[in-house]
Amino acid sequence: MKDNKMMKRIATPSNTKAILAKHGFSMKKKFGQNFLIDQNVLSNIVSRSEVGPTTGVIEIGPGIGALTEHLAHHAKKVIAFEIDQTLQPILADTLGGYDNVTIIWQDILEADLAEIYAREFAECESVSVVANLPYYITTPILTKLIESRLPFKNLAVMMQKEVAQRLSAKPGTKEYGSLSIAMQLYADVSIILNVPKNVFIPAPNVDSAVVRLAMLDNPRVELADEETFFAITRGAFVQRRKTIQNNFNVLFQDKEYVISLLEQCGVSPQTRAEAIDLETFAKIANQVVLDGKKLV
Ligand code: SAM
Repeated sequence: MKDNKMMKRIATPSNTKAILAKHGFSMKKKFGQNFLIDQNVLSNIVSRSEVGPTTGVIEIGPGIGALTEHLAHHAKKVIAFEIDQTLQPILADTLGGYDNVTIIWQDILEADLAEIYAREFAECESVSVVANLPYYITTPILTKLIESRLPFKNLAVMMQKEVAQRLSAKPGTKEYGSLSIAMQLYADVSIILNVPKNVFIPAPNVDSAVVRLAMLDNPRVELADEETFFAITRGAFVQRRKTIQNNFNVLFQDKEYVISLLEQCGVSPQTRAEAIDLETFAKIANQVVLDGKKLV
């Protein structure tokens, strides 16, 4: 943690343009490069991510260091993964003075997170992920972080607003689906900041939002088999407008079984998946495992 008065403010519009010009850097669409240029947005992300002097942070995609700088001032330690090696001279320039920041020049999807977690964060009280994500791989990154089963405190990540709404959606809404259920199984999910297009260079085509996933110590419900649970929740939403019975008929290819399963679990066959909460999906999945029923 450093004195805030010493902050360079890498990411004001004029500083960003000057840094890019100095290094002759042009943004790469293929890496989802949209850089933040608003100091208020940056400090709000950090404060609402609950990053403090004992927190270790993993950042994904530091870019020219806009968010990294704010994190370095508030966290104990920052480990940032960046795929684009051509940013090396820029980050050496912008973050050179920060001894609590390490850049790992690697695709986050290839990283051995367990090894890095064990090696880098022994002295931190908690570890969180804070990132303005490359939007083209939002779901694979979140899946990787969650499947790692590492004891992260928060995942505070900026993404396309529409995806943020799906992740945090409650039953009975049109955004609610298998992605909401998959994330809410492991975390309390909320949108902590809405972010307009005009605070990025270049401005993306879509609005953005920062989601905080406050990770639970254990999954929200007890599951006999997670694979079955995910297969069932995905299958339930394949045709959103159809009833749960119709979707399950396709999934199980056994109409009689579907009728008895739904009856046993107290779910009306005419219900649509979007009205079924996570606990009820867990009940259904556990019953399927108990029955030894195979999915098609
Ligand atoms: N954090 C910076 C900011 O807020 O201004 C940049 C955010 S930009 C949306 C996404 C960053 O992720 C870019 O720097 C990009 O090069 C990097 N990136 C893209 N794919 C990546 C990957 N697979 N692994 C690590 N970094 C990646």
